[in-house]
Amino acid sequence: MRGDVVGLDSAVIQAPQVWVASGHVNSFSDPLVECRHCHNRFRLDKLEDTDQCPSCGNRDTFTEAREFNLMFRTHMGPVESADNEVYLRPETAQGIFINFENVRRTARMRLPFGIAQIGKSFRNEITPGQFVFRTREFEQMEMEFFCRPDEADEWFQYWIEERRRWYLDLGITEENLRLRPHDDDELSHYSTATYDVDYRFPWGWDELEGIANRTDFDLKAHAEHSGEDLTYFDPITEERFFPHVIEPAAGATRTTFAFLIDAYTEEEVRGEQRTVLKLDPRLAPVKVAVLPLSKKDDLVAVTAEVADLLRDRWMIEVDVTQSIGRRYRRQDEIGTPYCVTVDFDTLDDRQVTVRDRDTMEQDRIPIENVVGYLESRLPG
Ligand code: ATP
Repeated sequence: MRGDVVGLDSAVIQAPQVWVASGHVNSFSDPLVECRHCHNRFRLDKLEDTDQCPSCGNRDTFTEAREFNLMFRTHMGPVESADNEVYLRPETAQGIFINFENVRRTARMRLPFGIAQIGKSFRNEITPGQFVFRTREFEQMEMEFFCRPDEADEWFQYWIEERRRWYLDLGITEENLRLRPHDDDELSHYSTATYDVDYRFPWGWDELEGIANRTDFDLKAHAEHSGEDLTYFDPITEERFFPHVIEPAAGATRTTFAFLIDAYTEEEVRGEQRTVLKLDPRLAPVKVAVLPLSKKDDLVAVTAEVADLLRDRWMIEVDVTQSIGRRYRRQDEIGTPYCVTVDFDTLDDRQVTVRDRDTMEQDRIPIENVVGYLESRLPG
């Protein structure tokens, strides 16, 4: 939603040379150990005690660590041979680098500008787990922000702050979010500086996003391997150079998990326990529920009429089963910001009741004002 950033949807399966150029074929691996006693396998760098098997408890049973490449491999075309081996992308970023020149030219972008994409990535994780924190197929959202080399430090600081603001703006509690600079020995081979955005998960601080200053490593590597010119000509200074890149790389799946945990609330209302997901309305999957007070035909007909008014604009649900209290609770649990209730008076006065998820306050408004009422309260 910015003038200096454009979107992209690149291929999941790229030419295999892309992953050679990016360094993934050679070094996108985790250290794998196997317990000689129970034969379970673990990622060495994530073990609490590198000498004791967390599965069977035995000591000194691990094999020597070997580097396990996390890319899923398959074959392009009907014949399986070493010549046509391809990979499912383990990140969306490389699709952006190899399309840099296409996007720059066709969208007529000038530095500084970003290319962003959201999409599936695949990693053959040794130990997936913690619900959707680590899965083998997950959704990433990444951006490569291209800029002049002498402006990279400034943009790096800018994007760190901007990304922090993004999480807080969408409702993450400030005490549960931290920025952590990488130590020199943690830095990837391509990066001069990296910050992680960490969330306080139930098991402790863990990563939501990495923001890296990748310099001109990627564009240079792809230019060398492909023979394409990926330099940029600055029409004002008349200089030609490889742009530098600031990359915020976030997990949409993992971040959604953090939003869920942060929004989950149990509270007591008039002596009763209520579970409510206090999601920012922009994140709530269902924005409005339309509920008839009873299953009577004439109420259901008006409910359908109200639902039709709302369906074009928002994701809505119509729920007719069980008591109205039960149905409010159900919507509270999935974080629906508003419930619109059609009752017997509606048949006479053409008015409905709108209930706010968080305050549980109710307003009585004419049916023809419902869209305007909700529009002013549901941003985005
Ligand atoms: P980790 O050290 O946890 O394996 P990473 O540092 O390798 O992650 P990046 O390569 O920086 O992760 O990927 C960017 C983001 O993609 C991560 O911050 C995370 O939110 C998300 N991500 C990476 N791997 C997974 C996964 N297996 N499941 C879900 N999300 C993931």
